[in-house]
Amino acid sequence: MTNLIDRHNSEPESTDMTITAPFIDFAVPGTIHVPARGRLALKLRKGQKMTITDVKGQQVMDMIAAMVDDPNERLSCMFSRVSSGKWDLNEGYTVYSTKCTPMLNVLHDDNGTHNMTGGYCSQWSNAIRYGTGKTFTCHDNLVGDWEELGLDVEKISPDMCISLFMNIAHHADGTMQIQEPTTKPGDRITFEAQEDLYIGLSNCPEEHNPCNAFHVTEMDVTIE
Ligand SMILES: [Zn+2]
Repeated sequence: MTNLIDRHNSEPESTDMTITAPFIDFAVPGTIHVPARGRLALKLRKGQKMTITDVKGQQVMDMIAAMVDDPNERLSCMFSRVSSGKWDLNEGYTVYSTKCTPMLNVLHDDNGTHNMTGGYCSQWSNAIRYGTGKTFTCHDNLVGDWEELGLDVEKISPDMCISLFMNIAHHADGTMQIQEPTTKPGDRITFEAQEDLYIGLSNCPEEHNPCNAFHVTEMDVTIE
């Protein structure tokens, strides 16, 4: 197991104790195991590849992203659809930012079913759908990721989240239905960073609907 975020090796020695920027380095090559309900925050350097593997199958991973140069420029599902002219993310797709800058290219995709309409599970969406009180959700994980990266959690928005392997049916009568993922054990998707990026990942803990087939499991994240 490799620690993707090496906090100690590449920052220059300094006696100046004034911290003006988050003290966190770019990811190093290796694989990290994200347990069920877990999360991972990292920085990807332009040209690095990130593979997300659904180890046991039928598990969703939510992903948010922002530019290192300007974290206010964030991943946008809406502008990705507009810029690519495609509803669905799959092999060959480019993910764009709020300023229509290419952020991530999809180099490989075993499954081809992902949610590009935006959104993540939250205590509020669980409450209105399932009458629950406070529940642990992707939003909690993504807030943890952004805090770890030193970013403004108030800037997290549903439009900046892609739900990898999430299977939502869009019916002809206008209704939608969350269905079990179709991923098999070992299915993976590989992205290549087109800019230096902040990435927040949440291994979706939702068990009130079929989005994780009512059985949350681990995921692997590999950096090359
Ligand atoms: Zn979720």
